[in-house]
Amino acid sequence: MDKIFVTQSSMPSFEEYCDEIKDIWETKWLTNFGEKHDELKRQLKQYLAVKNLSLFTNGHLALEGILECMELSGEVITTPYTFVSTTNAIIRNGLTPIFCDISMDDFNIDVTKIENLITENTSAILPVHVYGNPVKYKKIQEIADKYNLKVIYDAAHAFGVVVDNIKIANLGDASMFSFHATKVFNTIEGGAVTFKDSVLVQKFHKYKNFGVVGPETITYTGTNAKMNEFQSAMGICNLRHIDMEISKRKQIYNRYIENLLPINKIKLNFIPENVIYNYAYFPVLFKSGNRDKICEILMQHNVVARKYFYPLTNTNVAETPIANYISQNILTLPLYSDLSLTDVDKICSIIVKNL
Ligand SMILES: *Cc1c(COP(=O)(O)O)cnc(C)c1O
Repeated sequence: MDKIFVTQSSMPSFEEYCDEIKDIWETKWLTNFGEKHDELKRQLKQYLAVKNLSLFTNGHLALEGILECMELSGEVITTPYTFVSTTNAIIRNGLTPIFCDISMDDFNIDVTKIENLITENTSAILPVHVYGNPVKYKKIQEIADKYNLKVIYDAAHAFGVVVDNIKIANLGDASMFSFHATKVFNTIEGGAVTFKDSVLVQKFHKYKNFGVVGPETITYTGTNAKMNEFQSAMGICNLRHIDMEISKRKQIYNRYIENLLPINKIKLNFIPENVIYNYAYFPVLFKSGNRDKICEILMQHNVVARKYFYPLTNTNVAETPIANYISQNILTLPLYSDLSLTDVDKICSIIVKNL
């Protein structure tokens, strides 16, 4: 077998991208809120069904921007079962991450354990929709309302997901989406923030453009986190095909389910009926403790699966025992729109043979 990676970036045809970037050679406008940027922003607002959206050069700086522009302080309750970016963003903003354990059912933050962690210093809850599975948002909002906390979602995995007929970008006070090359929807590198309070529009603008608001006016100590025209053009192209991409992913996902559901030594991620999923990842929990061996054997067969998420982002892993257990037994299998069903079958048969 040729090497199969855990993911492969979605791309438009070469011709389609060339066509999209052609006018950049006319305008010579490469970055700083150009036509492509504004067009992508308009289209994404529509696709995600939100009023407020700000584009960023990547998802991580978008998340840092939320924490900075919302002027949070003290402690933020979050999950250790995530990509390190989530925790880094909290710490780099001078905030203290308070790690809540996760739930065995959906690998998301355990909403029954949040309230115990709240102190007078808590300013926000920052859950992650892990693998694109929506967290139990009603309970989280209830807690946030009771204690007057902000809710910020790391929705890096959740582009296009719908829960209870609500497009996921509308949950909480703000959500961060990553458009990194490895995500379901990509702009090469890129990201966005969707948010409730329109006052933040100007704050995000200052944050990502050095605080510059006019040729001679700087009103904030901002950073540089703008999305450029080539990123935006890639986004415009990829967005044309996103529904097709997700439906191809769904077929592959379902083939994995068909093959692996009957196997009782593994536990699969379960999509609730109230969710329209984006088929972002295919995590498998090995209940018999042989995750590392299976990962190694797959590698010998040129299949690169990944231990998402191992290691955890907290240092005291004993304080989050379920997250610790899952991180030691989870393996994310290859899943992308052009993965063939034959390859899915081969991957599954290697796993089943070696369980
Ligand atoms: C990808 C990812 C990020 C960071 O996004 P970038 O666009 O790569 O900066 C943050 N959180 C999670 C959970 C991610 O998977």
